[in-house]
Amino acid sequence: MSTKQFDVVVIGGGPGGYIAAIRAAQLGFNAACIDEWKNEKGGPAPGGTCTNVGCIPSKALLQSSEHFEHAKLHFADHGITADNVAIDVAKMIGRKNTVVKQNNDGILYLFKKNKVSFFHGRGSFVAAKDGLYEIKAGEEVILAKHVILATGSNARQLPGAPFDEVNILSNDGALNIADVPKKLGVIGSGVIGLEMGSVWRRLGAEVTVLEGLPTFLGAVDESVAKEAAKLFKKQGLKIELGVKIGEVKSAKDGVTVAYTDAKGAAQTLAVDKLIISIGRVPNTIGLNPEAVGLKLDERGAIEVDGDCKTNLPNVWAVGDVVRGPMLAHKAEEEGVAVAERIAGQHGHVNFNTIPWVIYTSPEIAWVGRTEQQLKADGVEYKAGQFPFLANGRARALGDTNGFVKFLADAKTDEILGVHIIGPMASELISEAVVAMEFKASAEDIARICHAHPSLSEATKEAALAVDKRTLNF
Ligand SMILES: Cc1cc2nc3c(=O)[nH]c(=O)nc-3n(C[C@H](O)[C@H](O)[C@H](O)COP(=O)(O)OP(=O)(O)OC[C@H]3O[C@@H](n4cnc5c(N)ncnc54)[C@H](O)[C@@H]3O)c2cc1C
Repeated sequence: MSTKQFDVVVIGGGPGGYIAAIRAAQLGFNAACIDEWKNEKGGPAPGGTCTNVGCIPSKALLQSSEHFEHAKLHFADHGITADNVAIDVAKMIGRKNTVVKQNNDGILYLFKKNKVSFFHGRGSFVAAKDGLYEIKAGEEVILAKHVILATGSNARQLPGAPFDEVNILSNDGALNIADVPKKLGVIGSGVIGLEMGSVWRRLGAEVTVLEGLPTFLGAVDESVAKEAAKLFKKQGLKIELGVKIGEVKSAKDGVTVAYTDAKGAAQTLAVDKLIISIGRVPNTIGLNPEAVGLKLDERGAIEVDGDCKTNLPNVWAVGDVVRGPMLAHKAEEEGVAVAERIAGQHGHVNFNTIPWVIYTSPEIAWVGRTEQQLKADGVEYKAGQFPFLANGRARALGDTNGFVKFLADAKTDEILGVHIIGPMASELISEAVVAMEFKASAEDIARICHAHPSLSEATKEAALAVDKRTLNF
């Protein structure tokens, strides 16, 4: 049997990889994707971290836990009686698993539809010869003219506290806790820690978040971070900043974390379960980069230039395994851009307009620069802010926390950053992304007709606020 040869072989079937393979096939290439993720039956589960243990399952659990909290705390405001509200955790996890499977199956369907050959198993470099790359794809060896590496990332381990996924949990275990823990500890107050902490807090756990940095949500606009800290505290989430983690001990009945608090005092946190969410590390395990001389950087990420080109001819890398924000949509954009560059087109990713979202309640979303960044960069700017409290739709929803904030250039009025904390911030941010991509001014948004009543009117009003002419506040 002759060796199968492809124009483009993608290693990794997460959002970076599977999207790159589909785009390559759309452009007329004979494309293949290799992914090793297994479902519980050992079958293929493409979609990577995002689909299996990241974006999708976390949002499924956030939705379930939000319904639970609404039923317990807010239904009564609507005149709805819901006595004895209870949570069946196994059913909730089962629903989450179904959502994941629907996404896995969807990707397999998309591969078929776009004629992408799928190999289930590990992809490793074997050798480079005669302008082609020899790649082990599961049990087969295939040849590729172009290779796109999209092998993603893994949860960072805390030295001395390895994940056992029973008591000491990574994101994987945090998405599969069998019963609501009475006390839950979270090390790391980043996006994942806050989202996972929110799920289990809403379901009744007493959650304590320990954060090494002295500031809360340092990458977020300061006024948004301040509002978030206030609201999370009100919800009962305990957050301790500036701590130094010491020994973590896991026993049958739980975990103890010794730490020094911000004042230097020795403390101990005893919890039933501990989630460690202190960032993620690029994953090149199994890729066998040495076989072809693929260069990694000091963080273990695959070294790439601005176009996602590695040091090897016709080898590209995208997503979490390269520099830049570890976000699914950034991985996808890079995947599309690389496929287009292989086709001789001008694939483009604008790092200045990549939106960020934290799916807590209220949600937090932003694009562009924060007020503190603009100050540090010496940029003259105008700020406009509008609270959801003054928005009719937010009042009707019963969700009036937070605000929309615009930052625009003082002279040109170009939008430099938009920061939202409030209901559906994840959806509202898209308008700001589009505006910034088209280099719109705050005035442009202020003059566009927005549906009434809608949360998006808060965006328009924040744009009006830049010129100090809000109409409803
Ligand atoms: C709990 C959690 C929540 C998150 N929520 C969000 C969110 O809401 N929004 C957002 O934008 N991002 C979110 N992220 C981040 C997001 O999941 C990642 O940025 C995204 O998955 C990166 O995509 P990728 O394609 O680079 O890699 P991955 O999704 O990690 O996919 C890599 C794939 O490659 C496979 N692979 C690796 N090595 C090999 C090999 N040698 N051979 C074959 N296959 C291999 C892996 O099995 C995996 O399937 C979240 C992450 C976590 C952990």
